[in-house]
Amino acid sequence: MVKRVLVLEDESSIRSFIVINLHRAGYEVVEAENGEEALEKLSAYPDIRVALLDIMLPGIDGFEVCRRIRAVNTQIGIIMLSARTQEMDKVTGLMTGADDYVTKPFSPAELTARVDALFRRAGGMEVDSGEIYLAPFRLNTRNRTLEKNDDRVKLTQVEYSIMKLFMENPGKALSREEILDAVWGRDYLGELKIVDVNIRRLRLKIEDNPNNPACITTVWGYGYKWGS
Ligand code: CA
Repeated sequence: MVKRVLVLEDESSIRSFIVINLHRAGYEVVEAENGEEALEKLSAYPDIRVALLDIMLPGIDGFEVCRRIRAVNTQIGIIMLSARTQEMDKVTGLMTGADDYVTKPFSPAELTARVDALFRRAGGMEVDSGEIYLAPFRLNTRNRTLEKNDDRVKLTQVEYSIMKLFMENPGKALSREEILDAVWGRDYLGELKIVDVNIRRLRLKIEDNPNNPACITTVWGYGYKWGS
């Protein structure tokens, strides 16, 4: 499966540096030199999961590109690249819908770590088919909804992300740490207990008998898994 990433950067030396390092980390990179080209490439490659956007560009700037992407795509992960370090940039970037922010110059390790984290958060390693079906559950990954026996189950965004993680990994024991990383992100500094609390709440919504769960079961001393 192809892990596709878009890199928008007008300076060719920086773009090459990014491309080489992302290739090395196993990514297919689609390159763009300006905002218009980036938007065209995003339509041409709908499986792009993460976009790295430089801010200072000829033509429309990176913030505007970010805004235009977000207007039509809430799923893609967006990392802003900037040579400037003002706090204002960071705020502006996040306000326009970016997920993360890297300040130049950055190391290859820093770059790939950020892209890896966002790639996972942007929907896992599978190509998005739009639906995951594990009877009696149907998870729609386009509109982020869950149905059980054709009835809608109302989930929070966090509950949805947990459900998706389990349905993508049926039968696999997932540690609390893995769940925390996948759902809240690697940078999250809270306690592991938040995983247990959310799973308890999710069970109340999806299990026939929440006191004796059959869907999300406990792996004692480790974490949880889908199925028994
Ligand atoms: Ca630039």
